[in-house]
Amino acid sequence: MTTDEKYMREALKQAKKAYRIGEVPIGCVIVYQDKIIGRGYNKRNTKKTTLAHAELTAISRASRVMGDWRLEDCTAYVTLEPCQMCSGAIVQARMKRVVVGTMNPKAGCAGSILNLLQNEQFNHQVELQTGILEEECSRILQDFFRELRIRIKREKDAAGSQSEDEHIEETGEETGFFDGKA
Ligand SMILES: [Zn+2]
Repeated sequence: MTTDEKYMREALKQAKKAYRIGEVPIGCVIVYQDKIIGRGYNKRNTKKTTLAHAELTAISRASRVMGDWRLEDCTAYVTLEPCQMCSGAIVQARMKRVVVGTMNPKAGCAGSILNLLQNEQFNHQVELQTGILEEECSRILQDFFRELRIRIKREKDAAGSQSEDEHIEETGEETGFFDGKA
């Protein structure tokens, strides 16, 4: 197992925590000098804030450990290609490197829609490695949305306003893991 695979496994462990609480399973760890200094997993629905993405949680923990907003020699391992907000935060933190599990054609900003990590017009560019444990990182999302679809189907007759599950279904559409793939 390579070092990248080893830490992507740790990011996957974080994604599994999100899965267990019914959140879209996305995880992140931040590594400095071969040590994990920040972990995070998606809690957007639980915390009811868009700021609860895995990467932002991991960044704030890492900054607490480093005592600095700069995370210059750090590498972020993320199971899913980061969005515009998280890619922006990664550039702002001046991180050295990002390792991505699976790409996100519908929302990713590390090359899919935009590549905010490597735009020459910003004062900082981030090294990028994609496709590490891609299959596992993609499978956990597919499994999650497949189960969700079954549950929604079962509860379809329940009346009332839009359920939390349907909100998550929207996220699935955003991430491209919910349409036809499951
Ligand atoms: Zn994000």
